Amino acid sequence: ETITTGWKLEHTYTSLPQPFFTNISLNPVRSPGLVIANYSLAEELGLNPEALQSDEGVQILAGNKVPEESIPFAQAYAGHQFGNFTMLGDGRALMIGEQITPKNERRDVQLKGSGRTPYSRGGDGRAALGPMLREYILSEAMHALGVPTNRSLAVVTTGEPVYREKIQKGAVLTRIASSHIRTGTFEYAVRGTSKEDLQKLADYTLERHFPGAVEASNRYLFLLQEVINRQAELITEWQRVGFIHGVMNTDNMALSGETIDYGPCAFMNEYDPATVFSSIDVQGRYAYGNQPYIAGWNLARLAESLIPLLHEDQEKALEMAQKEISNFTPVFEARWLNMMRAKLGLFNEAAEDKTLVDDLLRMMKENKADFTNTFRALASEKIDKTVLAAHPDFKNWQERWIARQDSQEETKAAAIELMQSNNPAVIPRNHRVEEALAAADEGDYSVMHELLEVLSQPYNLEESKAEYCTPPGPANVPYRTYC
Ligand code: AMP
Ligand code: MG
Ligand code: MG
Repeated sequence: ETITTGWKLEHTYTSLPQPFFTNISLNPVRSPGLVIANYSLAEELGLNPEALQSDEGVQILAGNKVPEESIPFAQAYAGHQFGNFTMLGDGRALMIGEQITPKNERRDVQLKGSGRTPYSRGGDGRAALGPMLREYILSEAMHALGVPTNRSLAVVTTGEPVYREKIQKGAVLTRIASSHIRTGTFEYAVRGTSKEDLQKLADYTLERHFPGAVEASNRYLFLLQEVINRQAELITEWQRVGFIHGVMNTDNMALSGETIDYGPCAFMNEYDPATVFSSIDVQGRYAYGNQPYIAGWNLARLAESLIPLLHEDQEKALEMAQKEISNFTPVFEARWLNMMRAKLGLFNEAAEDKTLVDDLLRMMKENKADFTNTFRALASEKIDKTVLAAHPDFKNWQERWIARQDSQEETKAAAIELMQSNNPAVIPRNHRVEEALAAADEGDYSVMHELLEVLSQPYNLEESKAEYCTPPGPANVPYRTYC
C-alpha cells in the first residue's frame, strides 16, 4: 500500500537567472540510517511523520533519492569570510525544493552533507555526525527560546566515513528555513552578474520576505531598511540568551532575519564579552561582545551590494546607503536596552536604565557570574548564593534596582513573570551538548533525546531537571568547538 508523504514542493528560486543556482545530480551514500527526526516539525510542514521514517523517507533524507516533484539544485553565493571576500556556493548542500506548508508558507528544504557540488572547491561535500547533531540540538533549542532560526527536520548517518582530524561517521542534516538568501547572495550578484540580475534577486527577495515593499516609494531602500531592522532584532535575541554564532561571515547571514549556518556555535557560561568558542576564530572577531559590531559590518556589505539599485545617481545612492548603515548602531542599542529592561523586569523606560544595566554587567564580568543562572536568580532569594551577590557593589545596585521596579505601575508578580519569560532557566550547556554527541557517536541517542526534551521548555524547567542548569566544571573549560 502507498502512504501519502505530504511533499508539496515548488522551486521558485530557480526562476532566477542561471548564475544564481546549478541543478545537480545526487551523490548516493552506502547505507542511510535514521538518527533523529522532528515529527512535530514534519507535521507543521504538512509531511507525514510515518512516511518520513519509512525506508523511502530515510533514502530521501540521505539524498539517495528525491521526492517525485523535486528538482534538486545548489545555490551560488559569495561572502566575506573573516573579513576576506571569496566566491562560494552550496559546497555540501542540496536544495530539495520549497515545501508549501498547510498554512501556505514557503520553506526551503535543504540537505547538508549531501556530497560534492560545482561549488565544493577542495571540499568533500560531506559532514560528520557530531556537527550535524550539534546543529540539530542548537537550532531546536534556539527555536524553543523564541529566537528566529532555521529548524532541523532530521539527521541520518550515511554508513560512510568522513575524513577530518580524525575519521568520523558521515551524516546528513535536513534543515528548514524561510529561505537561504544571504548577504553573500547579494555580494555574489553585484560582482558576478549584471545589474538586471541583481535587480531580479532583490525583487525575488522582496516578494518572498517583505511584501510591504509594494507600498514603498523606493523598494530597494525599503529592503535595506527592513533587513537592518531584522538583523538588529536577531542580534538582540542572540545577546539575550548568550548565543555565540561563531562564524558571522556574510555568507552566513540570512536576509530573512533567521539564525542560519550553525557551525562552531555555543552558549556563554560566565559572562564575558570576549567569550569565543570556535577553534578557527583565533582573533576573537566573532566574540560575544563583538556580534553587534560585526552585524553592522555585514550590513554595510549588503548596503554596498544594493547601491546600483538605490538611485540612478550613484553618488546619491552611496549617501543613502551610508545613512541607513549609520542607523544600525542606534537602532540596535535601543532594542538591546529594551531587551535588558525586560530581563530586569522593567516595563517602561527611565534615563538611569543604561547605567543600571551597565553596572550589573560590570559586576557580573568582574565576579565571573554565570550569565543564564544569574539573570534567572535575580528575582528570587537564590541570588544571595551567587557570586554576583558577593560583589562589594551588589547591595547598592540591588537597592537601586528594586527602587526602579517599585517606581512602575505594574505589580511585583508581573515583573517576575516578565523576567521569567525573558531569562531562560536552561540553555544547551556546552558540556551537556558534548555528552549527548559522544553518546550518539556510540549509537546511544537517549542522552540527546533527554537533552532535547529539557531544552524544549527553556523557561519552565522541572525541579527534577535542575542538574541541566549546572555550568561546566573546571575540567570542561576552555571549551572549543570545531565545524
Ligand atoms: P561554512 O563556514 O560552514 O559556512 O562554509 C563555508 C563554505 O564552505 C560554504 O560555501 C560551504 O558550502 C563550504 N564547505 C564547508 N564544508 C565543506 C565541505 N566539506 N565540502 C565542500 N564545501 C564545504
Ligand atoms: Mg555557511
Ligand atoms: Mg556551515
